Amino acid sequence: MNELANCANCNSVFVKNIRNICRDCYQAEEEAFEIVYRFLIQRKNREATLTEIVEATGVEEKLIIKFIKEKRLRTSQFPKLGYPCEQCKTDIVTGRLCSNCSQKLVSELEKIDNIDAQRTKAQQERERHAKIYYSFDQQKK
Ligand SMILES: [Zn+2]
Ligand SMILES: [Zn+2]
Repeated sequence: MNELANCANCNSVFVKNIRNICRDCYQAEEEAFEIVYRFLIQRKNREATLTEIVEATGVEEKLIIKFIKEKRLRTSQFPKLGYPCEQCKTDIVTGRLCSNCSQKLVSELEKIDNIDAQRTKAQQERERHAKIYYSFDQQKK
């Protein structure tokens, strides 16, 4: 039997395939892609920004971002394509954060790791002392 799944876009039940969206949504997406692509390949629109594309084509911004992330719309071909970083809203062309924000995130994580490491070390130190005192007490007896 065919496995069923919920469409990630409209939530309707559909027969599972390699995509996570149903046939209708897939078709709608393909049509949207066509519209966006046809708009962009016109010479005068090559350097359109995301906002300009949304305004001109009426295609949802998040869909266009999806196309960029899937590399169906290539920023090498359309230099102004980009979408806002989830943190600081700088234009980016890949991932969810700009390089600044992802760097910040990495150093934050490292900081947390360091704190954890220090905590473990302090804990081990305490346990070691406890053991020494314990054996010292034992010897006294
Ligand atoms: Zn759907
Ligand atoms: Zn950023």
